[in-house]
Amino acid sequence: MKKFWTLSMLSLFLGASVHAQQFPPGFVDPMPLLAAASEEIGEQDFQCVTLSGTGYSGAVGQTYENAVNIDWDRIEMANYTRTINWETATSIETFDRTPGLNPASWKYGLGWMGGTPTQKQTRQTFIVNGDTGWAIDGDGPPVAATAEDAERWQLDIWLNPPGFLKAARMPGANPKAFWRWEQIEMGRDGNVVNLTKMHVVSITMLGKYLVDATINPQNQIQRIHVMVSEPALGDFNIEHESTNQQQFGNVKWPTNWHSHQGWDDNWQFANDSTGHNAYGGTFPNVQPNVCPNSVPVPTNLQPSPRPDPEMVIVERMAEGVYLLGGGPANSYMVEFKDWVAVFDAPINEKRSLAVIEEIVKLVPNKPIRWLINSHVHFDHIGGLRTYLHIGSTIVTHRKNVGMLNRDVLNYRTQGVEPDITSLWPPTELAEGYNYEAINENFVITDNERIMRVYYVQPLRHATGMLMAYLPEEKIAFQADLFNTHEPPPAEPTPAMQSFFNQIQRMSLDVETVAPSHGQPVPYSDFVEAMGDEGKLCETVISGGAVGMAPCETVDH
Ligand SMILES: [Zn+2]
Ligand SMILES: [Zn+2]
Repeated sequence: MKKFWTLSMLSLFLGASVHAQQFPPGFVDPMPLLAAASEEIGEQDFQCVTLSGTGYSGAVGQTYENAVNIDWDRIEMANYTRTINWETATSIETFDRTPGLNPASWKYGLGWMGGTPTQKQTRQTFIVNGDTGWAIDGDGPPVAATAEDAERWQLDIWLNPPGFLKAARMPGANPKAFWRWEQIEMGRDGNVVNLTKMHVVSITMLGKYLVDATINPQNQIQRIHVMVSEPALGDFNIEHESTNQQQFGNVKWPTNWHSHQGWDDNWQFANDSTGHNAYGGTFPNVQPNVCPNSVPVPTNLQPSPRPDPEMVIVERMAEGVYLLGGGPANSYMVEFKDWVAVFDAPINEKRSLAVIEEIVKLVPNKPIRWLINSHVHFDHIGGLRTYLHIGSTIVTHRKNVGMLNRDVLNYRTQGVEPDITSLWPPTELAEGYNYEAINENFVITDNERIMRVYYVQPLRHATGMLMAYLPEEKIAFQADLFNTHEPPPAEPTPAMQSFFNQIQRMSLDVETVAPSHGQPVPYSDFVEAMGDEGKLCETVISGGAVGMAPCETVDH
């Protein structure tokens, strides 16, 4: 009898306990929140949307300067139209953008990759259908997006209020909800006067992305956030903020949009790479449930022109000097008596490990003592953590150390796609000789071979830009100052002018230009691309000022 009583009490307790544990402290039931948000915008009547207006594309990872409140470089998008169809999981975006400024494969935000074809025409189209994405430059053929880009474009279909609510109903979404008091945001003009109680619903999208939506007391979704993996920085914030929600027929849709990629860290409490606005605009023309019935994948889809990052083609340039090419950007290896130096660590960890594997085959048992970092654009620093892990000292300009130290070469854990440094952090990360931070120039030598590293001036492409030079072999290594993966531009670019100026200033006797993007070329190719400016040299003109004059009159 006593035994029975004890068991009954126990099961009652367990029952109560199970009930209480349905929503642990801090968590609440997500279902009423999702239902109210759906009701608020008429989500059940919303199958697709077509919107148009004017926006901008922010070039993530391509800032000229890493400094407080410097945003990602913006390129205007005119005549912008987008159709999002949640029923067919398709999106079509078209806009006009000035040609020649960015890769044709790049839409906005993440995904910028130098060394791929440049945008040639004004009209740009980007489409995704399921896991297939493609881009159309002007009236050209549809060109496949990389799987990575296509997946991010697909994810973006669901990062808006109706999309989020529909994704929350999908199998595997596993909604969870909690609440918080939202504070006024520093650095902003105070659009939250009092602390406001917000609810946040978190779901899983596409089987892997943890996405959360902030729902305000009016049951409106006002912020949608997701963490993705970015090769240079690791865990990388994407958040869409929508305002000015308006009624269109029986549904509501926001007409103002902006998207942060990277942290919106105006005060740089936690990050140095401050760029954040990656896409935005005003899209006042909204047509709910107006969109094509289907967006078929083209039968003439051209393969992605982006080379496989893991493909490494080794070419010998001189005794102990090798090009490690084959990908979207090159590294170069220079062998010294007891160690090797590598110029540039582009793309990502996979590429860098593949390049390191080839270096070890070429020169077994010589450590990679130095890694020379050309500049801190994301597509040129994706391998820095890999080289630090393998035991290299990073040679970079002094101006880059703060950003690299805080945002890139650190112990911060990575949750989305942890790299080797995150999983197995080496002791030297905190206590090692991680940097050689140079001001003007630096010499790497074993007293036999000599390699010079220079700070390139004037600054044109990015601050803290370094190049390297082998005076004996007359090879100049550089990134993004003169690319050879496609024919040179009709007019010399500012970056080409700064490279040319640097060569003149240092009186370098260059025979071969070794670029990060494209194959090495004779110096005469570069001079020819400089046109009339290639016939000018920097010299001191009257009054002591520095100017350009025909080279033959300049006495070095
Ligand atoms: Zn580049
Ligand atoms: Zn660059």
